[in-house]
Amino acid sequence: MSPADFVPTIGLEVHMHLATRTKMFCACKVEYDARPNSRVCPVCLGMPGVLPVMNEKAVELAVRMALALGSQISDYAKWDRKHYYYPDLPKNYQISQYDQPLGVGGKLDIETSQGTRTIRIIRVHLEEDAGKLMHAEGGNYSIVDLNRTGTPLLEVVSEPDVHTAEEARAYGEALRQLAVYLGVSGCNMQLGQMRFEPNISLCLGTDDQGKPRYTPISEIKNLNSFRSVERAVLFEIARHRQEVQADPRGYTLEKLGKETRGWDDDAGTTFLQRSKEEAHDYRYLPDPDLVPFVPDRKWVEEMRATVPELPEKRRRRFIADYGLPEYDAGVLTVDRTTADYYEEAARASGDPKAASNWMMGDLLRALNERKIGLAEFPVKPAALAELIALTKQGTINRNTAAETVFPKMIETGKSPAQIVKEDGLAQVADTGALEAIVDQVLAANAKIAADYRGGKKAAFGRLMGETMKASGGKANPQIVKDLLTKKLGG
Ligand code: ZN
Ligand code: MN
Repeated sequence: MSPADFVPTIGLEVHMHLATRTKMFCACKVEYDARPNSRVCPVCLGMPGVLPVMNEKAVELAVRMALALGSQISDYAKWDRKHYYYPDLPKNYQISQYDQPLGVGGKLDIETSQGTRTIRIIRVHLEEDAGKLMHAEGGNYSIVDLNRTGTPLLEVVSEPDVHTAEEARAYGEALRQLAVYLGVSGCNMQLGQMRFEPNISLCLGTDDQGKPRYTPISEIKNLNSFRSVERAVLFEIARHRQEVQADPRGYTLEKLGKETRGWDDDAGTTFLQRSKEEAHDYRYLPDPDLVPFVPDRKWVEEMRATVPELPEKRRRRFIADYGLPEYDAGVLTVDRTTADYYEEAARASGDPKAASNWMMGDLLRALNERKIGLAEFPVKPAALAELIALTKQGTINRNTAAETVFPKMIETGKSPAQIVKEDGLAQVADTGALEAIVDQVLAANAKIAADYRGGKKAAFGRLMGETMKASGGKANPQIVKDLLTKKLGG
């Protein structure tokens, strides 16, 4: 086997800030733009004698995510102290879950260029975040902001089922979509609400006993974008291949164990932080201040019932049930609000394709122009459905609907029927009235009419256009077409 054949074996640890108002074990607010060290109290500062109290909402969100991943919710989950000494951690330990996490097992399907792949989940647990260190540019000091200390964190750990940088990225994206969809985390990368730690090694085949051999496991800490995950994984795979080529006997997991590495985004390289790191270095021990989490089974089942249809499944259903193209189905299931809005409009209008066209075009454009989300959009799905129905029935044509009625619905919040009535926008379908307009148009455009009769078929479109214009855009196009055909052909 040559180094190029060694299969990368990658597991990911992903941390997400839970969408709670307050911290994990105290009542301090979770705020990202507050003055440094202004959202702190004795509990999150780790003062002696304080008692942490578990945030119920954080547990609820964690359970929701675990259920959506298909994890088993533990009957007994406990809190442990993970010790390490660092300036961003005032207690010198992080409250986490070690050997009895909240959720065990599960899986997540990801889409890659090679098709759908299933990544198994090892565990889902709750913990608290540390503070933030800022190193002075060119200076010899650092400053610490403890506002983030104690922010509820959900950690999802995958099996080493990921084999490429593309899959690592797809896994991160799928996890993000799920967490955002469920309202579990905002997953805002800029705010550091989602961070990735890939564990990378290469499988070197098997030894004499048939046991698989690996290169050392490199854990890359704190990646905060999909791009950096992809780049760091690619870099590490190449680095491992080089190392194992240079020292095939020595560069093994057995000899070197696990190491922790940082990522330098500017240089595009990883660098060694700590080698030979083991769980026992953290001196895990049960936290005596916190009662274990022993969920009521009935409550867990109630929570399970509230887990909605997941985005990937819904996307496939939109394609199958509503005949949507892949792309449209992806856009319309990007979050739950959008998917719910679409589905309500599709059902109420009885025209899923039209509902999709409206949302993908006019509606998204209106949201972008106003820089608002669907939740704040004044036109509700029922009103959009009504507009679609008015167009389908022929009360107004598509142009009037898009150019006049829809903008006015956004502006005034009035129903489409009311706007059509007040502004006299209903299509003219009265053949007698339209005939008079057609006659005027033909008289005023005798040359074009003669061209048409002389064989210039394109002239028909111009006469259609002139008639629509003369009617103020309100003529029923089908009736105009019939009238023109009759008069010109006769
Ligand atoms: Zn606090
Ligand atoms: Mn962690």
